[in-house]
Amino acid sequence: MNLRQLLQSLTSIVAAFSSGTCLCAGYFALAPLSESSQIKQWVEQHPGSWWVEGEDRILVSLQRWDGQDTPGGSRTTIIEATPGPSVVYFFQGAGPLPAQSRELIRGGRTRVIESPRAIAMADGPHHRLRPLQPNVRLVQKLPFDPEAGEPILSLRAALDADAWRSEVEEISRFSRYTYGSEIDAARTFLSSRLRSIPGLQVEESTFTTARGLATNVIATLPGRSRPDEVYVVGAHYDSTSERPFELAPGAEDNASGTAGLLTLARLFAEQPPEATLIFIAFSGEEQGLLGSRAWLKNWLADGRTQQIHGVFIMDMIGYSGDGELDCLLETSPASQPFLSQIQAAHKDAELVLTSSLDYWGSDHVPFLDNRIPAVLFIENDYLDYPAYHRSTDTVDKIHPQLGPKILGLVAQTIGSLAY
Ligand SMILES: [Zn+2]
Repeated sequence: MNLRQLLQSLTSIVAAFSSGTCLCAGYFALAPLSESSQIKQWVEQHPGSWWVEGEDRILVSLQRWDGQDTPGGSRTTIIEATPGPSVVYFFQGAGPLPAQSRELIRGGRTRVIESPRAIAMADGPHHRLRPLQPNVRLVQKLPFDPEAGEPILSLRAALDADAWRSEVEEISRFSRYTYGSEIDAARTFLSSRLRSIPGLQVEESTFTTARGLATNVIATLPGRSRPDEVYVVGAHYDSTSERPFELAPGAEDNASGTAGLLTLARLFAEQPPEATLIFIAFSGEEQGLLGSRAWLKNWLADGRTQQIHGVFIMDMIGYSGDGELDCLLETSPASQPFLSQIQAAHKDAELVLTSSLDYWGSDHVPFLDNRIPAVLFIENDYLDYPAYHRSTDTVDKIHPQLGPKILGLVAQTIGSLAY
């Protein structure tokens, strides 16, 4: 079918619906990103229409479609168009979509979905449904500027990809459900690894949950000359699966980030910075960010909010669906200056960065909600990870290079800020 035939058939579909009682937003069309500017122009001239830009397509809604006045006119390539009635939402979560809905576009950790009828669904710790926000970009590619400064080579060179992977494997041997029987052994393992690193002050901090106690492991590397300037590096070490009391290896979610935490703690303890670094392995993340909330609550109670200059959260840093080494940086609009500092420290041409300003569902949330600069580092292919929250989340699914690349970026950024 050529474009003209396609448009003709669309026109007839639309005509059929426009005679009915369509109370929805109208019709949707998908076009390549290269045509974004024409489409946005068209939307401006057509009140009631809107657009949302995803990672490789732009979605546009049309109040009516007469076959003549299409977005961008004949210059626009319409990949697909759907007549109403539909309800359109933002859906966030790697799990299955709500019944009878389908994905239109995606970007970052957000999918735009349509459903023939309104969806009633309560938010959970791993997903949420929100009304569509018109005229937004879900995700943005961050440009790479190799001329922007010199990399701190000694930090990068100290990262050992094989060591990181074998530590992911070791951690994933513990089934680490927050309320399970093995998480205590995992915690002891992490504590002893951290205690073996000279210069770190390690403590375990227990907090209450609705179903008993849980424990964060905290390792502080005091700053040499600016101890009140603090950077937090965090990763949750608890995991879950479809049978969490029996088997929750959580290699990717989140032994990958926990092993990263150990790697960075070792790296920086060897050459302690001027500012203070606090490494935290959080528990209770899968039950609703319980560990990070508990830690921050204590910190806020001490009145020390201003001391935290940046928070680096690593959650799922090892999976690539397409072999590409790409990382999503998720934060809030208020934390954009911190995002820029990370971007400025990015010196690795092989690591592709994208950013999203729509934050949810990991340990960066409590910090951002309290206006503390924080960024989540997460693989860009998060939505496609087939073993997400499954007992099959094992080390064989981990890309050997992605985690170390992301750790290199975190190290480089801390290197540029804390010395
Ligand atoms: Zn996670």
